[in-house]
Amino acid sequence: MEFETRLIHGHADGEGDVTPPIYQTSTFAFADAESMARASATPGYERFYTRYGNPNHAQVERVVASIEGGEAAMVSASGMGAISATVLALTQAGGHVVAQSAIYDGTRKLMSNVLSRFGVDATFVDQTDPQAFAEAMRENTALVLLETPSNPLLGVTDLRAVGTIAHERGALVAVDNTIATPVNQNPLAFGADVVLHSATKYLGGHSDLLAGVAVASRALIDRIWQTHHIVGATLGPFEAWLLLRGLRTLDMRVQRHNANASALAAYLRDHPRVTRVYYPGLENHPCHDVARAQMRGYGGLLSFEIDGSFEDARRVIDRLQLVHSAVSLGGVESLIAQPGAMWSGHGKGSSLLRLSVGLEAIGDLIADFERALQ
Ligand SMILES: *Cc1c(COP(=O)(O)O)cnc(C)c1O
Repeated sequence: MEFETRLIHGHADGEGDVTPPIYQTSTFAFADAESMARASATPGYERFYTRYGNPNHAQVERVVASIEGGEAAMVSASGMGAISATVLALTQAGGHVVAQSAIYDGTRKLMSNVLSRFGVDATFVDQTDPQAFAEAMRENTALVLLETPSNPLLGVTDLRAVGTIAHERGALVAVDNTIATPVNQNPLAFGADVVLHSATKYLGGHSDLLAGVAVASRALIDRIWQTHHIVGATLGPFEAWLLLRGLRTLDMRVQRHNANASALAAYLRDHPRVTRVYYPGLENHPCHDVARAQMRGYGGLLSFEIDGSFEDARRVIDRLQLVHSAVSLGGVESLIAQPGAMWSGHGKGSSLLRLSVGLEAIGDLIADFERALQ
């Protein structure tokens, strides 16, 4: 089946429900003690106890594994739930992680504030410089953590180059693919070992749930699950069902996100009050060539700087009528945020604005920015 078809039919287990029921149950009854004991020993078994697995989890896991080109997947209660379980499962005291410095704030804090207390060191390097990864690798490096494109400057990591460096030194590679989405990029095809998603964003797509997913080989997912089901960031069955509903339209939505963001990036690039646009689809983006080589589309996220101060940028946000002022990304509605006001190390004091371009008519979005920038 093609990608779009798998989004719609890939959850099915042959039971015949067009829209699956919600298994809103914490536990499952067994016919006999023997089958109950067997279920308890099977990683992710979908009818034992919902922290271990649930049929609604299994449906989403089949779809996301399939569209990422992986053998297996594991859902969690949030993107950070999936990232934390993965990093905790694949590292140990005395170990070392190499991560790109432009990485999701929660992932950075997981390394700097949490894992550091358990004897796992991290080195942060420039994602655009494969040589920097090579130099940061140590004998005890177990994991290389990537995110491409990254937030908020849409830096791009060369997945094949960095993956080769990591594998030569015996480290595993995990890639946060939240911003690209599986419509635009499949890191496993470039040699990554684990793909991570905040399904809160494009996979869910409607700003109405929190969820996370990890995709990898069956053996790696089983290993991650051994930590995950103990740490306990379990996705609720209803959220899993909502996520499956969102996934059905992922391809259509992301095609439109790509088109709207490309059009808005070009509009902003040509606007006299805008000094710089960060969008990997623009030919003058410093990572455009790497992006073109590994992405099928450039996604719905962009950032830009205006010809003005931090306060002027704040005024632009306040003048927008259609675009909401909110964090998060990947929903049907356009959202704008000022990175320098919220996240460490990103555009402090600058006029940088980050925009998650939604699915509104492009003419309405451009009109909103035209008004606000004036
Ligand atoms: C939002 C986000 C996360 C964290 O996901 P939650 O669902 O909020 O836990 C991780 N990585 C990226 C790139 C994100 O945008």
